[in-house]
Amino acid sequence: MPIINRIADFHPELTAWRHDIHAHPETAFEEHRTAEFVAARLNEFGIKVHRGLAGTGVVGTLQGSTPGKRAIALRADMDALHVHEKNAFGHASRNAGKMHACGHDGHTTMLLGAARYLAETRNFAGTVHFVFQPAEENEGGGRKMVEDGLFTKFPVESVYGMHNWPGLAVGEFAVRSGPMMACSDSFEIIVAGKGAHAAMPHLGIDPIVIAAQIVTAFQTIVSRNAHPLESGVVTVTQFHAGDAWNVIPPEVVLRGTTRAFKAAVQDLIEERMRAIAEHIGAAYGARIDFRYFRRYPPTVNTEAETELAAGVLQGIVGEAAVRRDILPSMGAEDFSFMLREKPGTYVWIGNGEDRENLHHPGYDFNDEILPLGATYWSRLVETALAKC
Ligand SMILES: [Zn+2]
Ligand SMILES: [Zn+2]
Repeated sequence: MPIINRIADFHPELTAWRHDIHAHPETAFEEHRTAEFVAARLNEFGIKVHRGLAGTGVVGTLQGSTPGKRAIALRADMDALHVHEKNAFGHASRNAGKMHACGHDGHTTMLLGAARYLAETRNFAGTVHFVFQPAEENEGGGRKMVEDGLFTKFPVESVYGMHNWPGLAVGEFAVRSGPMMACSDSFEIIVAGKGAHAAMPHLGIDPIVIAAQIVTAFQTIVSRNAHPLESGVVTVTQFHAGDAWNVIPPEVVLRGTTRAFKAAVQDLIEERMRAIAEHIGAAYGARIDFRYFRRYPPTVNTEAETELAAGVLQGIVGEAAVRRDILPSMGAEDFSFMLREKPGTYVWIGNGEDRENLHHPGYDFNDEILPLGATYWSRLVETALAKC
């Protein structure tokens, strides 16, 4: 069961669509042109279109040739990043400072390809919803889709996602049951001491010395508090203080991000960070303002849906090309908000071993894999919603 011939036939059109979207990148919640493009294609295919979830979200609904109560959702993201594109090819970004550096142009196109094929063939029983969401990068468009009633307006038994993965060969996929991507939280800590003349430290409360101890103590959370077989990351990325050689500043601002795969580890990290910051601050007489922001939950694949997807993928590219042995990524993904509501699975499709990494200004989605991704989506629907 290789690439579907009909999809291979319209590969040139898929490439043209992808280039069009790539050349006109739009960032979080401003995907107006992209949403218009998606809705126009779905309309052409004869698919019922619903607009407006999370602002620019688009959902296409298609019934199979056999009626049925069952329904699934396939999800693609549409947004670009605030990156200055370094590529010089014809389809490079025409919107200065914005770029499809994460391949969401390709994700949107692959799902449109499947929608076109499935609308022509309808070889399934029940309903498939094609979900095109805004603002995957940082802004949690996936959460907004769910809050706006994605699964109450479009009830489904399961939901599926896919992301391209540079470093993974063309023709390969990767999927695992359990955590696939980490949760991502952020924090800001203000250490308020008392400024003083640098030569008279006894007259102040030096927030730099205190904040330095807080940063150092944070290193014990993963190494001393979390279970040795559980994963977590605590990274301080900003340490802002002072602007003179001879002045002890009044305060320090620390910022950074944390990652984990399990809610218990995430809770532990937040709890320990707060205790460490507040107690070290108290020990030295500094005031601590601790703020912790829950952003994306972990992306956790359910077993039955993962096995189903892996079986479909093996049918397309063969058993050896479906990597089941991968480590999950410490990156994060807002598809997690959908997987928190419904069973489902999120797979990686190889973008090529020598391709630039995600978010790199020289990145480009690999057009070669467009029909492969569209074939996966199509076969997944025909398998998950197989006619009896
Ligand atoms: Zn990204
Ligand atoms: Zn992405």
